[in-house]
Amino acid sequence: MGTEVNIESELPTLDFLFIGGNLALNLVNTWRNRPIPGSRQNVHRLDLLWDLSRAELWWRKACVQHGLTGYEEFGWSEESFEILLALRAELRSLFEGIIAKRADLPRMPVLNSTLARGSFVVRTEGASVSREYVSHDDRPDALLAIALAAAELLATGDLSRLHDCRSDRCLALFYDSTKSGTRHWCRPECMNRARARENYWRSKEREQTPPSE
Ligand SMILES: [Zn+2]
Repeated sequence: MGTEVNIESELPTLDFLFIGGNLALNLVNTWRNRPIPGSRQNVHRLDLLWDLSRAELWWRKACVQHGLTGYEEFGWSEESFEILLALRAELRSLFEGIIAKRADLPRMPVLNSTLARGSFVVRTEGASVSREYVSHDDRPDALLAIALAAAELLATGDLSRLHDCRSDRCLALFYDSTKSGTRHWCRPECMNRARARENYWRSKEREQTPPSE
């Protein structure tokens, strides 16, 4: 009993991050590195979607963040939760492979089977034609929305702008949509913390260096 770490009290900021700039990246970022308090180097990987109710909560917040009206009503089940976790693992290894510029990117069976939950529907209204990807049961499908976001990023994104946070204690993934394309940290807190740490260790080093006579 006594050795069990109460994650909630030790690490108060268990909020979901929506800094990835893409729904699929934000899903991947629910699996995060968290620094261990009092330790400079050690991190542990924390799964913010530890059960079905957490996934439901994440999804409700994601719908607000991404303007997915109507999708909040998606009926999560243990089965769809399992698919969500499998999709997240697959997307993580794909995005990490792209960031590391690996030549052998993984195959994506879960992403492809999720994309197969829908298809394009072409509609005409007068002279205008719209093309929309809809689920086979014609209801908002959370998994399909995430898979489409991933596919859109792969198809139309500049993948050289896909990064992981420079903070080795964070490693959240994000798409850099800044004009200059020089974003290094997932959010200002990571940048500020990294700079504060740098200053701290630099001043420590100075203390330990005996003054030259
Ligand atoms: Zn970060």
